[in-house]
Amino acid sequence: MMTNEEKSQLKEKLEQEKAKVEKRITSLKDLTKSVEPDNAIGRVSRMDAINNKSVNDAALRTAQNKLQSIENALQDIDDEEFGHCKRCGKPIQMGRLVIMPESTKCVKCAQL
Ligand SMILES: [Zn+2]
Repeated sequence: MMTNEEKSQLKEKLEQEKAKVEKRITSLKDLTKSVEPDNAIGRVSRMDAINNKSVNDAALRTAQNKLQSIENALQDIDDEEFGHCKRCGKPIQMGRLVIMPESTKCVKCAQL
């Protein structure tokens, strides 16, 4: 079982992470605004802009998924099951939960 102290530490880290991801989403949304066809930026840079857009679109989706996992983790953190490996039942390493709050398996089991 995770101690209350560990839980509040994790919560704090998740909140920080959440703020970071939210910031990233905001700036990515800015970058993925549709490319205007009649911009003064010439054909080649328009191609660049379109290429960048698809890269940024993918990054935006990743960031949105990440945000979702963080929100889920924050919601479930008080459950007794939270932070335990779905496979072996052992506690999942704290560092792992911070980096990948969507983890449902410990490092060992995830590698199997
Ligand atoms: Zn495990």
